[in-house]
Amino acid sequence: MNIIVVNAGSSSVKLTCYGPTVDSVMATGMVERIGLSGTLLHYQAGNREPIKTPVSIRNTAEAVAALARHLVYPQPGCLNSLEEVQAVGHRVVHGGEKLNQPMVIDAGVKEIIREYFDLAPLHNPPNLEGIEAAEAAFPEAVQVGIFDTAFHSTIPAHAFMYALPLELYGEDKIRRYGFHGISHQNVSRTAAEFLNRSPENLNLITCHLGNGCSITAVKGGRSLDTSMGLTPLEGLVMGTRCGDLDPAIVLHLMEQKGLTLPQVRNILNKKSGLLGLSGGKLSDLRDIIDAMEQGDEAAGNALEVFCYRIRKYVGAYMAAMGRVDAVVFTAGIGENSALVREKTLAGLGQLGIAIDPDRNQARSSDTREISPPDSPVKVLVVPTREEREIAGQVMAVLGTTP
Ligand code: AMP
Repeated sequence: MNIIVVNAGSSSVKLTCYGPTVDSVMATGMVERIGLSGTLLHYQAGNREPIKTPVSIRNTAEAVAALARHLVYPQPGCLNSLEEVQAVGHRVVHGGEKLNQPMVIDAGVKEIIREYFDLAPLHNPPNLEGIEAAEAAFPEAVQVGIFDTAFHSTIPAHAFMYALPLELYGEDKIRRYGFHGISHQNVSRTAAEFLNRSPENLNLITCHLGNGCSITAVKGGRSLDTSMGLTPLEGLVMGTRCGDLDPAIVLHLMEQKGLTLPQVRNILNKKSGLLGLSGGKLSDLRDIIDAMEQGDEAAGNALEVFCYRIRKYVGAYMAAMGRVDAVVFTAGIGENSALVREKTLAGLGQLGIAIDPDRNQARSSDTREISPPDSPVKVLVVPTREEREIAGQVMAVLGTTP
């Protein structure tokens, strides 16, 4: 049995081929810069020589088809035929209230994914394109949707309701949905395994800090609250997204500064966050830290705002859960930036949270503990394995053991 995982984004498509278990990765491939100059295809089967080749690929459908062809090339393919693929799992960002668990994708499910285009305009359209491309490339396979919102479907009403007129929830379904659920779910499971604890008895705060950032309170293995909301704009400071702000700022920008709706949307999504705070120059945390070290004051402030926002949420989620067993850092920044981890949690000893400086600095790609050995609250770095999580959930839908 073989399972393919497809992660189709706005300018890249990633594909992973699994054998019978989540540990048997047979091939990985990616097309990046789709629709831009310098489109590249990466592919590697097993531990054979990786391929990296310039390609002329204009859209998601062509990218999925090209990656599928690589799976069956005599050299360096990993399958004899695409008919050996039993299922294709797709990461879908917004599943709303209706698509709240992994499910086989049929015409009705595709229609609902389309309904959420306006709430996730950068994500759901390429996700659906990826599904339709995989239906064409793997006609014998079952297509399965794994939704980034689904893990958060356990959030109770008092945490998912906005204090707006009730009909805006009843009729328009305006509420907190939360995102990055596949990652939060994956790292919470890994953290429980690492701590040798049953997830049912564990309270975690999981910090997914990448280009997009979100933080989740995970109580007994279920999401209790999360920082992203109706869309992936709310919550933490991100690379180019603002996160939390006073909603009156939007009105002010439109009324007093005369900005149009597309201009405001562009500011909040593409010109804010680390990029905005650093004066429109830098959205990548590594660049922010380099600039700060060279004395750039705005970059230094950007880092302070970024870490302070995370710290506030850690406090809020400790109060929401009453007890926290571990704080987990993941994704590009969470896994790699000792400085962000240190700044975020510095001085929280009274709350039982501490970081061991040497453990924090040690570089490793494995799950690791960075708190002192006797710390009441563990602080962990857990690499996120979203593809593996999707493959495992697909296997569960098919009734096989991941
Ligand atoms: P992701 O979206 O998970 O790929 O994460 C991207 C973010 O991770 C960017 O802001 C990068 O600057 C940041 N990042 C990746 N590697 C490092 C590193 N070694 N130190 C600090 N930040 C890093």
